[in-house]
Amino acid sequence: MSEQMTAGQGRKGGKGDGNKGAKKDALVTEITPQTEDFSRWYLDVVRRAELADYTPVKGCMAIRPYGYAIWELIQQGLDRRFKATGHVNAYFPLFIPEKLLMREAEHVEGFSPQVAWVTRGGDEDLEERLAIRPTSEVIIGTMYAKWIKSWRDLPVLINQWANVVRWEKVTRPFLRTTEFLWQEGHTAHETEAEAQEETLRILGIYKEFVETELAMPVIDGQKSESEKFAGASKTYSIEALMGDGRALQAGTSHNLGQNFAKAFEIQFQGRDNAAQMQHAWTTSWGVSTRLIGGVIMTHGDDSGLILPPRVAPYQVVIVPIPRGDVLPKAREIQAQLAAQGVRVMLDDRDAYTPGWKFAEWEMRGVPLRLEIGPKDIEKAQVMLARRDTREKLPTAVDGLAGAVVRLLDEIQKGLYDRALRFREEHTQRVSTYEELKAAMEGRPGFVIAGWCGGAECEARIKTETQATLRNIPFGSAPSGSAPFNAAPVSGACVKCGQPSSAEAWFAKAY
Ligand SMILES: [Zn+2]
Repeated sequence: MSEQMTAGQGRKGGKGDGNKGAKKDALVTEITPQTEDFSRWYLDVVRRAELADYTPVKGCMAIRPYGYAIWELIQQGLDRRFKATGHVNAYFPLFIPEKLLMREAEHVEGFSPQVAWVTRGGDEDLEERLAIRPTSEVIIGTMYAKWIKSWRDLPVLINQWANVVRWEKVTRPFLRTTEFLWQEGHTAHETEAEAQEETLRILGIYKEFVETELAMPVIDGQKSESEKFAGASKTYSIEALMGDGRALQAGTSHNLGQNFAKAFEIQFQGRDNAAQMQHAWTTSWGVSTRLIGGVIMTHGDDSGLILPPRVAPYQVVIVPIPRGDVLPKAREIQAQLAAQGVRVMLDDRDAYTPGWKFAEWEMRGVPLRLEIGPKDIEKAQVMLARRDTREKLPTAVDGLAGAVVRLLDEIQKGLYDRALRFREEHTQRVSTYEELKAAMEGRPGFVIAGWCGGAECEARIKTETQATLRNIPFGSAPSGSAPFNAAPVSGACVKCGQPSSAEAWFAKAY
């Protein structure tokens, strides 16, 4: 038995390792098993992996450095994609004067229950209340009205990285908090077609990003009228399936039509130079720190977090068995991996044993652990341990960096495939309402069913089964021209039996 295995023994507790449970518990404590209480498991992982913590401010979390590092990687990946498609970043005020917020009727109605207000500045009452932005269409639209005068000023493609506040009654770290971080893109275009193209382009970026970087398979499609963004003409979303079979809306992109342009007078002189000014066509789109919650719930297991390598703050953690000249060798390996662009940390803390470190980094989801001891050095090898499969792979020091890079790619892909398989196993098509109800009571997941397009059927399904219509996937005709972009459907509405206009995906959702 190698030294690594000796050191690792007692903390492993992997699947099929149940008889060592007692020892395992001594190290990996305080994480509730998923099957016992998924929601408790989630909170345990968030806290124990030091991703976020509660604060004295109700509903607001502190994002700890390890969690924030994941957010930074998400930001970088998205920012690169936005810029590659012509978008630029800017910043707008946190406060929105009440009169402005009131201008777009549907928008106000949708957001007012969640708005936090500032009524005093210093020791004076304000003449006009200031809303703390729940989203920025209003303030950005006001500025666009100043900046856009002619068709030559279009398109405007601006993104903002910011915090927003929505007063929430029930909160959960990353998934729903009163204040959260996000990006919000706001664009203005000359034509309706261009705005629609932008809306779908961004949804495509979100899908590609979430699937490639976060290894989360998503369904992209259009929201129903009742689920669309307040003030939008059309809302599109990407929807992921979490480990407990509930759906998570992971990103949304809205075609705002001319609704905000009319409310905020975003007008321009057209190409024909006509005296008549035209209203711009606008879009908005966003993803938030909620994505971190998605990563936790898509990939994690009873031992804790499992991070996809692309967003892991540390892709490799080196745990040396601190004897002989192991440490200098470990440092050498660290430098070699770092030179290949691998995010690597050497855990050379004296205060903790290797066994404790194994358990700790496993719980914190580091994709690859690299163990090195005196015997490994004799054999010119190290031991690599995969977090996702728990495989242990003796690997030659010669060519190590290349092997690590390949393994990280393999882990990334493996996590995506596993999540996709899970979704496929938890998606079923139903043709009767009884089947839909039974599906929602039994093993949860996505349920695909015919829908007539009626708000009443949708509302009754929600009340009676708690399932919401997540979206209507693009199907085979993602042109944006058909009413719901879906493939033509034959069949009946699962609720009322009328001919169905779309095939919708339902689920219980976060
Ligand atoms: Zn119906």
